[in-house]
Amino acid sequence: MPQAKAYSVASATSPFESDTIPRREPTATDVAIEILYCGICHSDLHQARDEWHDAMPTVYPCVPGHEIVGKVTAIGSEVTKFKVGDTVGVGCLVDSDHTCPNCKNNLEQLCPNMVLTYNFPDRHGTAPVTYGGYSESIVVDEKMVLRIPDNLELSATAPLLCAGITTYSPLKRGGVGPGKKVGVVGLGGLGHMGVKLAKAMGAHVAVFTTSPSKSDDAKRLGADEVVLSKDPAQMDAQAGTFDFILDCVSAKHDINAYLNLLGADGELCLVGAPSEPLEVNAFTLLMARRKLSGSLIGGIAETQEMLDFCGQHNVTADVEVIPIQQLNAAYERLEKSDVKYRFSIDMASIKGA
Ligand code: NAP
Ligand code: ZN
Repeated sequence: MPQAKAYSVASATSPFESDTIPRREPTATDVAIEILYCGICHSDLHQARDEWHDAMPTVYPCVPGHEIVGKVTAIGSEVTKFKVGDTVGVGCLVDSDHTCPNCKNNLEQLCPNMVLTYNFPDRHGTAPVTYGGYSESIVVDEKMVLRIPDNLELSATAPLLCAGITTYSPLKRGGVGPGKKVGVVGLGGLGHMGVKLAKAMGAHVAVFTTSPSKSDDAKRLGADEVVLSKDPAQMDAQAGTFDFILDCVSAKHDINAYLNLLGADGELCLVGAPSEPLEVNAFTLLMARRKLSGSLIGGIAETQEMLDFCGQHNVTADVEVIPIQQLNAAYERLEKSDVKYRFSIDMASIKGA
């Protein structure tokens, strides 16, 4: 079995350490990829530390990473979409059954038999669970591999594979565009992509942040307004005025404060995944027929659509590029909401690890 260098955690409280993992030989429909950059999503932190234990317990060793861009190094005999040397992406999904009603509707992320890029039972039997992108290489079925537009800078493109699609999909489904007032809650990796994408779609965008130091950046990223969410007067001034609010917060918080800001029939969509339950005041929903929804990444076709949209509009993430040896320090900063606005690992650094 071929081996690849990777960084893994051995338990919920262990630091990342250099490791070696198995990667399968490409099957007839597989694409082998040399990973160039991998973004660090807050989901990686939730999983590495087993914070989602009740919903998806973490199997150790765990190699996170689902914001992958790289170059094709080998293809199976039946691969038609890609050739050696192509620049490609892999997001949160590496397989699904391709036959269920959701797959037939291009919603592989809702397939009961989907396989996530890491910490999911490995159907190929290469290892007990799938291993993600904190690694020098990965092997993925071509159906789950994406084309990267030529004009996009690669370190800043990696985060589109999760943060990009996770915000694009609900914004599009929510009818976001010219004439709509959209709120983005939490200016982190997802939130800053939400701002850029909602602006590119033509909406009026307000950012809600707990971090006064992010105000100037929010405007630079395209926000029309910035609201400090800990200031009740600033929150009250926005009551009842929003069509759509995208909640990208990673920790427990009061969603009723944001539901109150929606107008009649307005929608608050949760993409943030706090480990603790959130409380909802029924009257806050009833009084203006407000809707509370959730969204999970996006399907493969929609992820390609998002990448092409980003190519056309020149949208990428704002990244801090780090060598993989700085993973543990990066996680400490991510936990403190102190990232401008996504870490992207330069995987060339793993060669010497
Ligand atoms: P991130 O970069 O850490 O950003 C989260 C932001 O939430 C922070 O920057 C901060 O923004 C705000 N925040 C953090 N703690 C807070 C608190 N206690 N109260 C209020 N606001 C707080 O994380 P991310 O990578 O964007 O991910 C965000 C969440 O989305 C995570 O839970 C992740 O697992 C989830 N996620 C879901 C999907 C999906 O498919 N639904 C996909 C990817 C990620 P301010 O400093 O501006 O307040
Ligand atoms: Zn993610």
